[in-house]
Amino acid sequence: MKTAIVIGGGFAGCTWSHLLARRGFRVSLFEQAERLGGGCKTMHYGGHPYTLGPRHLFTPHHDSLEFIRSVVPLRQLHHYLLTYVEQDGQFYSYPVHADDIDEMPDREAILGEVERRGDPATARNFEEYWIASVGPTLYEKFVKSYSKKMWQIESNTLLTDFKFDGKGVQLRTGTKEVRPDYHVYYPSELAGWDTYFEICAQTPGVATHLRTRIDEVDVRHPGVRVDGQWHRADLLVSSLSPDLLLDKCYGELPYVGRELLLLVLPVEQVIPDPIFFLHYAGKQAYTRVVEYKKLTGYTSPSTLISLEFPSMTNKLYPYPIKAEQEKAARYRAECSDRVLSVGRMGNYRYYDVGDVVHEALTKIKDI
Ligand SMILES: Cc1cc2nc3c(=O)[nH]c(=O)nc-3n(C[C@H](O)[C@H](O)[C@H](O)COP(=O)(O)OP(=O)(O)OC[C@H]3O[C@@H](n4cnc5c(N)ncnc54)[C@H](O)[C@@H]3O)c2cc1C
Repeated sequence: MKTAIVIGGGFAGCTWSHLLARRGFRVSLFEQAERLGGGCKTMHYGGHPYTLGPRHLFTPHHDSLEFIRSVVPLRQLHHYLLTYVEQDGQFYSYPVHADDIDEMPDREAILGEVERRGDPATARNFEEYWIASVGPTLYEKFVKSYSKKMWQIESNTLLTDFKFDGKGVQLRTGTKEVRPDYHVYYPSELAGWDTYFEICAQTPGVATHLRTRIDEVDVRHPGVRVDGQWHRADLLVSSLSPDLLLDKCYGELPYVGRELLLLVLPVEQVIPDPIFFLHYAGKQAYTRVVEYKKLTGYTSPSTLISLEFPSMTNKLYPYPIKAEQEKAARYRAECSDRVLSVGRMGNYRYYDVGDVVHEALTKIKDI
């Protein structure tokens, strides 16, 4: 029987463990935390279930939706988002919607800029891309400060991989739903994604080792060192940042993280329907406010919201900077073809849940 080691028990590691076991591998899944789930595990505050940030399935990948739905029951959502534009003292829809321009005090100037906008295809960085897409005033209102705060950077010209934004940057007309063409879902049960991780880990053939940190990885002859002992397998699947596989020999890959401020409020709902989270585009220290019961379906006379503060204390968002992505690719190129670097960190890309599952469903076919 073939053997596989999987590092990390988040969406990537759990999905890979399940798929490999179904293909006949004997799988050892190693997770350093006490529980599976990585960034998507359900936590509780004041009785309210929540995750670190929204973590709903928001994807164009039909195979990911179908696969996840075969494991856990899902509830469909419709995703509307408002951005608070500090300089106007107003909330507007995001992506930027043509109807909202009519409500803006500088409407005439904006319409002129939109008329004269350039060609985003010639842009060299994120700032140029947005200005060419919607003009400088809308860029300033919706994107400039938000992005600098989100990435903790001095200038958006540093961001050189700028086509990652799945929300699209053209001015919208018609529906204000964020992406009506996307599948938007959250688990129907209050356990959230935890049920998915448990079912994956309980697949016959998967042995799960919690509270087990991988200290070293052999990327040429698939193996990991745990508590001073080497474990070998035919295949190694890692969801770690690729610089950690090779002792950061080409330099450390940078990430930005998040701290959450949780607040229970004595009202049933604070954010009006159909919106379920808010962006703050100005100089406020936080980027986003999420009202969790809208995702989880939890009912209570109170409500839980979180404010997300960008921080350098944890590693959650890989930078959309080409030079860093090339560095990540250099690490990945050192790995044998029996060592796969997968998931959000493993690819060093802004992968969401749908992307992570889609990657596993696609690559497993070659194994
Ligand atoms: C704030 C935030 C909000 C998000 N919201 C959404 C959203 O609304 N919708 C969406 O689709 N996507 C969202 N995403 C992205 C999505 O959650 C991720 O793409 C997905 O969870 C990545 O899964 P993963 O398994 O690759 O990584 P992770 O979930 O990070 O899992 C990696 C696992 O590896 C473990 N690990 C690390 N080092 C070791 C070690 N040395 N030994 C053993 N184990 C180790 C970690 O403990 C962790 O459990 C969000 C991301 C963030 C940061």
